[in-house]
Amino acid sequence: MTITLDTITPRRVADSTVPAVVGAGQPVPLVTGERVGYANLDHAASAPSLARVREAVEEFLPYYASVHRGAGYCSKVSTAVYERAREAVARFVDARPADAVVFTRNTTDALNLLARSLPPRTSVVLFDTEHHAALLPWRGPNVRRIATPRTRLAAVSAVDSALADCPEGPRLVVVTGASNVTGEVLPVAEIAAVARRHGARVALDAAQLAPHRPVSLRELDVDYVALSGHKLYAPYGAGALVGRGDWLNGGVPYLAGGGATRAVVRRGDELGVAWNTGPQRHEAGSPNTVGAYALGVACATLSARWDDIRRHETELLDRLVTGLDGVPGLAQLRLFDTDADRVGTVAFTVDGFEPGWLAAVLSAEYGIGVRDGAFCAHVATARLVGVAGGSGTQAVRVSLGLGNTAEHVDRLVLALRQIVARGA
Ligand code: PLP
Repeated sequence: MTITLDTITPRRVADSTVPAVVGAGQPVPLVTGERVGYANLDHAASAPSLARVREAVEEFLPYYASVHRGAGYCSKVSTAVYERAREAVARFVDARPADAVVFTRNTTDALNLLARSLPPRTSVVLFDTEHHAALLPWRGPNVRRIATPRTRLAAVSAVDSALADCPEGPRLVVVTGASNVTGEVLPVAEIAAVARRHGARVALDAAQLAPHRPVSLRELDVDYVALSGHKLYAPYGAGALVGRGDWLNGGVPYLAGGGATRAVVRRGDELGVAWNTGPQRHEAGSPNTVGAYALGVACATLSARWDDIRRHETELLDRLVTGLDGVPGLAQLRLFDTDADRVGTVAFTVDGFEPGWLAAVLSAEYGIGVRDGAFCAHVATARLVGVAGGSGTQAVRVSLGLGNTAEHVDRLVLALRQIVARGA
């Protein structure tokens, strides 16, 4: 069978108009006068469901029932689907046989779960330009947030030095796979190699990397990976933390409740609770079976087509970066001075134009959806834009995905040129 990108293009999202802005059923009033579809250039926030995911979910909806608890047919189907989804996620990140796959709500949830499971006095080392989901969950005196250096090489050395300064005891390095602001890919394998030399574990925030590149726990030699279904072309509500089970089994259960326990007995006024080990320890309550299934299907679909995805996104990214370079007054934000691998995410400012206003005009007049703001990475955005920080709108972010076409990119570039030419 020939695999074409069409088979995984999010279903007709690109053909719908923009009812929220111009009224249901109205065409987008382009400056050029053409009637064209909505260009979603905000995949880094959330990516629309793959056609295959939508079909799978629709197929499963009549069957979902309690997981791990019911004897009925639907419960058995649901349990099998849920556990198969777990296996699909494990394969997607090339997990080691002993790794646990815990279903969470999203990456934020996954990293908070890991933070709750750290052994006492764990030293945590990370860059200060991380997304807040990776920046904030770690607490205590042994958390070291390194100011991100301007080169990848210096970034690896900075982790090395920070680890050398850590007190004895467990150590964890937390690093994103790709920046949600600039799309730049971090030198994860190199950081992991340094971490190993210091006896540290590594947690990879793959929210932005996993939709664009194969992520292998084994090849990168990282210990944990966190990801979100809604960035992987599945609907909201399911993500995962995958990694070594020992800390997770030693940690306080993330949620107390049914499923997390093996046995609960009353002893006088007290309760004796034997907590489960394995993923169920942290998955109390009725799980999001449909979300997990959708995530599993998305993982399986994407992993069968990495070459197509890479080719498609690289072509569009080159076109985008070149096009933006030609827009007067536009400055693309970069963490690192040197060029290297990058996923299809580009943030920029345009001299004399307020980012929120630019994003609103792109939407209302050109049918282009982008994001403006500080992207839940206030330290990163403030440093790159050179402002004081906070949640104000500091830049515009364009992020490419499978539903995008060259026309979307060209329309954005043309729109920005027209907006700049006519002035704020
Ligand atoms: N990490 C990165 C790099 C992200 O870009 C995001 C979301 O944008 C997150 C973590 C948090 O993801 P979620 O909102 O799905 O928890």
